[in-house]
Amino acid sequence: AIINFGSINIDHVYQVDHFVQPGETLASTHYQQLLGGKGANQSIALAQAGADVCHVGSIHENDAAFKQALIKKGVDCRGVKCSETPSGHAIIQVTPSGENAIVLFGGANQTITAKTVMQALDGTKPSDWVLTQNETSSIDQVLRQAKEKQLKVAFNPAPMSESVKSLPLECIDLLIVNETEAAALTEKDSLDDIVAVFKEQWSECEVIITLGKAGVMMLKNNDCIKVDAFLVDAVDTTAAGDTFIGYFLSAYSNHTDAKRALIRGCAASAIAVTREGAAQSIPTQKEVDRFLAK
Ligand code: ADP
Repeated sequence: AIINFGSINIDHVYQVDHFVQPGETLASTHYQQLLGGKGANQSIALAQAGADVCHVGSIHENDAAFKQALIKKGVDCRGVKCSETPSGHAIIQVTPSGENAIVLFGGANQTITAKTVMQALDGTKPSDWVLTQNETSSIDQVLRQAKEKQLKVAFNPAPMSESVKSLPLECIDLLIVNETEAAALTEKDSLDDIVAVFKEQWSECEVIITLGKAGVMMLKNNDCIKVDAFLVDAVDTTAAGDTFIGYFLSAYSNHTDAKRALIRGCAASAIAVTREGAAQSIPTQKEVDRFLAK
């Protein structure tokens, strides 16, 4: 199984003519509530890719419908607890040109404790994987306890913050970053310099750098495996990384070789970028198979 310690957010999406200005009250022309959060998106991608995924997280009891939505996608939500703290949510303004401005409240995502982590990892087997991002509390505990239990640890430090550098990074088996996160983590600008730092300082760990429409690169045992992105007409790249991670990790944790797993991740995320939205843009396994057969 893959145990994903991750955020569950409610995205409140408002269409506006322009971003609200200081002191202004602005009427929105359209409103939508969507399930979001990098954690939830990755769990959905894992489940759609066929993985056995247990989500560990927290939402307010009034928002049980969002937990049901995850369950409906095939995610085991026994580790999702009800909190008295409001659910994590994002207030998203979208302008006609597609630009967005976002206010994020971590809320219940920040109520995960060392005890939650301990309980969630109770009864796991060494063949299990643990996955986490940077949108929930007690990430240091997730990394440490998973390593102690000799589980495989995958970490996606998104959104990137300075605090990531003080985490017990030696506990990680697989690091997955986009170019921005890679640059912040290594404090380098060019891809060559970034790769050099990973090769030198992260040699114990496998590293995947996703490169948007340039595809993906994986550093593994002194090898550098590169896979091109598929050529598609992108309309919305939201959740591209989350889709890649879910599809890659589902295959890789099931002993598919690295190159093939990378190709599946790229295919799934290429489909996702041709569709609007986050969770709703993540393809099914059938769609990915059909896309790869073309
Ligand atoms: P993130 O969404 O985390 O910023 P990336 O932008 O690197 O991550 O995208 C993740 C993966 O999605 C890429 O490795 C690539 O396979 C795929 N992808 C992203 N943008 C495109 C695109 N325009 N065309 C095809 N594939 C894309």
